[in-house]
Amino acid sequence: MKTLKIAIQKSGRLNEKSVELLKNCGLNFENYKSSLISPVSNFPLEILFLRDDDIPEYVQDGIADLGIVGENVIQETEVEVSYLQRLGFGKCSLKIAVPNNNDIASLADLNGKAIATTYPVILGKFLKKEGIQSDIRTISGSVEISPGLGLSDAICDLVSTGGTLKSNGLKPFADVMSSEAVLIGSKSVENNDLVQELIQRIQSVLRAKE
Ligand code: ATP
Ligand code: ZN
Repeated sequence: MKTLKIAIQKSGRLNEKSVELLKNCGLNFENYKSSLISPVSNFPLEILFLRDDDIPEYVQDGIADLGIVGENVIQETEVEVSYLQRLGFGKCSLKIAVPNNNDIASLADLNGKAIATTYPVILGKFLKKEGIQSDIRTISGSVEISPGLGLSDAICDLVSTGGTLKSNGLKPFADVMSSEAVLIGSKSVENNDLVQELIQRIQSVLRAKE
């Protein structure tokens, strides 16, 4: 049978847990930080190490058959992939946060305000659903410093403990989405026997953790 490819994050918040999950599934591979591809010696699988932002499109286009990535990234890239399994790690929430001392008391108060984010697609859909018209300012990082610099009135960013918000004088204001790492697959592999075998192994690892 054809060797499968699974894309995981090369480095960052999801890398370690993704590697650990695959190793716990009994897969033998070298976790070289320098290489892009690592073959698995005891299963017809290759591991691709990529930036998380690239994973949904690689899976959609079939360059990788499977991927492990945060739901937030999938929603933001608006790809057509199959959700195969929630993985229980990488949990976080995408939240709108506002400066501690401000006059924003309800969602409606965000009308006409500038919100800085790296998630313009998800934020745009949320605001539309709520009937709010804000000025979405897309920036590529360090979103949390933007209100302090006078670049925005609020932010929309990923939060896990809230520590980063606090140290920048911000407080959570509204929940936009909650997210965790998920296993995704390209549309063509849903019924592949090897994929089913891998999903079963993942499910037993997750059950053993409960
Ligand atoms: P890359 O270099 O691969 O592009 P990145 O900097 O975009 O990495 P990370 O910060 O490593 O991404 O986060 C990867 C994923 O971890 C996020 O997309 C999200 O799903 C999850 N995550 C969990 N908690 C947090 C958090 N507190 N802040 C940001 N992301 C979090
Ligand atoms: Zn990224």
